[in-house]
Amino acid sequence: MMYAVLSVSFVAGAAAFRMPASSGRRMAAHVLKMEAPMERVTGKASFEPAVLDRYMSLPQNGMVQCEYVWIDADGKTRSKTRSLPQSRIDRAKAGQEVAEVLPSWTFDGSSTGQAPGEDSEVYIKPVRTYPDPFRPGNGNLLVLCETFTPEGQPLPTNTRNHAAKVFADKENFAAEPWFGLEQEYTLFNLDEVTPLGWPTGGYPKPQGPYYCGAGADRIFGRAVPEAHYKACLYAKIPISGINAEVMPGQWEYQVGPCVGIEGGDHVWMSRYLLDRVCEDFGVMASIHPKPITKGDWNGAGMHINFSTKEMREPEANGKGGMKSIIEAIDRLGARHKEHIAVYGEDNELRLTGKHETASINEFSYGVANRGCSVRIGRDTAAAGFGYFEDRRPASNVDPYVATGKIMTTVMEKVKAPAAVRKDKEAAVVH
Ligand code: ADP
Ligand code: MN
Ligand code: MN
Ligand code: MN
Repeated sequence: MMYAVLSVSFVAGAAAFRMPASSGRRMAAHVLKMEAPMERVTGKASFEPAVLDRYMSLPQNGMVQCEYVWIDADGKTRSKTRSLPQSRIDRAKAGQEVAEVLPSWTFDGSSTGQAPGEDSEVYIKPVRTYPDPFRPGNGNLLVLCETFTPEGQPLPTNTRNHAAKVFADKENFAAEPWFGLEQEYTLFNLDEVTPLGWPTGGYPKPQGPYYCGAGADRIFGRAVPEAHYKACLYAKIPISGINAEVMPGQWEYQVGPCVGIEGGDHVWMSRYLLDRVCEDFGVMASIHPKPITKGDWNGAGMHINFSTKEMREPEANGKGGMKSIIEAIDRLGARHKEHIAVYGEDNELRLTGKHETASINEFSYGVANRGCSVRIGRDTAAAGFGYFEDRRPASNVDPYVATGKIMTTVMEKVKAPAAVRKDKEAAVVH
């Protein structure tokens, strides 16, 4: 009796989880029939730009999509969107940064490795806005943010906060610092190991034909830098150019000249745009400074071109022009190790003294020499005034830290010992 009851209840329990036979068969047929369209709906179809475009041009009835962008703990950007009324944005007076009238917001810092789970809210405070190239028209914005604890302290990963103070300093501001930043990057297939245009598990023909090249045998993934270029122009990022790099699949764009903190802001936003563009094309952009370590392949850097007002003007009364430029370079030389320490992770793999770099262990400078830590351009040397190029920073450098450090070192009131000067023309230059 007991057994029978148990057995009945067991059967009844199991039956509760089983589909009635007829409905089960219908379900199977339904799944089969729907499989292909479902895949298209949830997968490929949503990637069709033409499909999305139908919605992107719809009016927004007075609301503006604001994409809040911040820097995470891995040197990447993250973002999320909120709708704000146009009237909120219109509060900004003529000439005022729109960011100043936008509300702060929060995100879950425990999901980005930036805050503990039990006190997970990180505040994001808008600092600069850009027209959003991914939601064109309708006044939609990208909103660059700084990150803070609930107590209002900048997060350790909020390097902008300190840099902004450096550039706001009265003397530094008066010096009118300009930065031109050359961001190199490498396009990878989604396997994360094969650069674009490289045979899987193998190597392409040696370097030489690729830099600034043309042709399907030399250039891989040009659509990415082209789309990114337009996206930057739309966003009003002062992108000054692009070029194909020495290693196949490697590219460069330049941002600048920018004044003070804008250099870091624009580079970070341009990196965000690059990741978004790559998302559309199904490729990855790596800013690792030595993506391929085996063989003769160039690394990736972020040369930083720098000048102050004094350097951009001819020498007069014992200052300005080349005199100021060389004084600044001597100061950089005296703090070489400190600069290297903040010029990007894994930079020792890149600064080997080969592949148009100088050794990480020695500081040197020279006119037109791409084997030096710092290069003075031929035009600058000929004119007697202009700017210099710090070739040491890696492609993954934090531009806030690097530009802030250069500013601080260059403005030191010390006469540093003369740095090593090497002026022989490099064999292959660009
Ligand atoms: P390279 O010859 O090293 O490849 P690029 O042309 O790629 O140089 O980059 C040079 C960068 O320097 C550009 O972004 C440019 O806008 C910037 N630049 C030009 N003049 C100055 C200046 N006076 N001060 C700082 N940066 C400058
Ligand atoms: Mn360049
Ligand atoms: Mn380059
Ligand atoms: Mn350069």
